[in-house]
Amino acid sequence: MYPLVDAAAAAALVLEHTPVLGIEQRPLDSCAGRVLAEDVVAPSALPAFRSSAVDGFALRSTDAGQTLRVIGESAAGRPYEGSVGPGTAARILTGGALPEGADCVVMVEDVSLDGDLVTVPSHLRAGTNYHNIGDDVRAGDPVLTAGTQLGAAEIGIAAAIGRALLPVRRRPRVALMSTGDELVEVGKAPGRGQITDSNRWALYAALLEAGAEVHSLGIAPDEPGELRRLVEEWLDDADVLVTSGGVSVGTHDLVKPLLESLGTVHVGRVKLKPGKPFTFATLPAGKLAFGLPGFPVSSLVTFEVFVRPALRKLQGFARLQRPTLPVRLAYDARATADRTEYQRVTLRREGAELVADSTGSQSSSRLMSLAGAHALVRIAPGGDGVKAGTVVEAMILALP
Ligand code: AMP
Ligand code: MG
Repeated sequence: MYPLVDAAAAAALVLEHTPVLGIEQRPLDSCAGRVLAEDVVAPSALPAFRSSAVDGFALRSTDAGQTLRVIGESAAGRPYEGSVGPGTAARILTGGALPEGADCVVMVEDVSLDGDLVTVPSHLRAGTNYHNIGDDVRAGDPVLTAGTQLGAAEIGIAAAIGRALLPVRRRPRVALMSTGDELVEVGKAPGRGQITDSNRWALYAALLEAGAEVHSLGIAPDEPGELRRLVEEWLDDADVLVTSGGVSVGTHDLVKPLLESLGTVHVGRVKLKPGKPFTFATLPAGKLAFGLPGFPVSSLVTFEVFVRPALRKLQGFARLQRPTLPVRLAYDARATADRTEYQRVTLRREGAELVADSTGSQSSSRLMSLAGAHALVRIAPGGDGVKAGTVVEAMILALP
């Protein structure tokens, strides 16, 4: 019998045994969602030259109020190579380089034009209507930090400073398997006593969302030899094994003995509801194995609490946990067993506050308690629970 490990201690133990995966250089078109592995520094300034913010005329501010001769044009990508002296101006277009000698740009709306003569306003300030060298980024500025997830803006910055490749962490390769003689593939009519394998699809989605590459091993029967054969087949190709079912103490629960024979089981039972039979093991070559409980909500809640942070650590994320927000409970919450309980709630706005309503029966078989939930609320065991009206910190899955 495995000792009942405190939920927070089990989560810490998982992360302690989780390595960070290696670095690969990826072209920008495959960087979205990946985690940057090293800080990125700008090799040179942005903008690299003084560039006009408007369409108008580039001139010397000391020529305010004068009628000037237009001597050329500076368009984006086609700079005016001459210099703007006293009494002259150059037509300039947005993005065009400010010609030498000019110190401001006047908008085309603010001048009067007569052939190649332009009369400019009587009040002009040097430095207006153009972007100076280094306004956005100075040479040597750190622009992206290791551990951040690359989104549109980050990839845009990388391109702007000339980086065609970025160092990102490898995605974790996860082998996913359901176990149980009662399971049939989705779409097949279950016979007497059979149920459809839903965990594998729920976990598949959760794994993808967490950044993993998933290889599905299908359904393993409750037969030790076949289970071992399936698992050993993937061993070389994956970083992580995730199974559901087969971890409680019934006679058909074969996952713990298998993991015990392949590596080291660190957690075999957790003071957590739902998810008491959650099992965590390390396997040779730094691989991790998560034996998730069979009940659908238990498998997804233990995924959230233990597997997702580990997948984030593997990918080098700076932040491993879901963000939390203070929410006001609209119901009396109690941990019904002597275990930390993760209750599923929906959130709604009330003025400046978020208010949390229970999703109804919190039975670990009732997937509808998690469908559409916005957050998980952690309720400590013992005492009188948490009274309605109390503000607690909730783990945010999605905002309303
Ligand atoms: P187990 O942990 O194997 O004893 O499974 C507990 C219960 O979870 C089973 O009796 C099933 O009702 C349910 N279950 C197990 N595996 C799955 C699965 N892949 N999809 C949906 N429900 C499952
Ligand atoms: Mg089973």
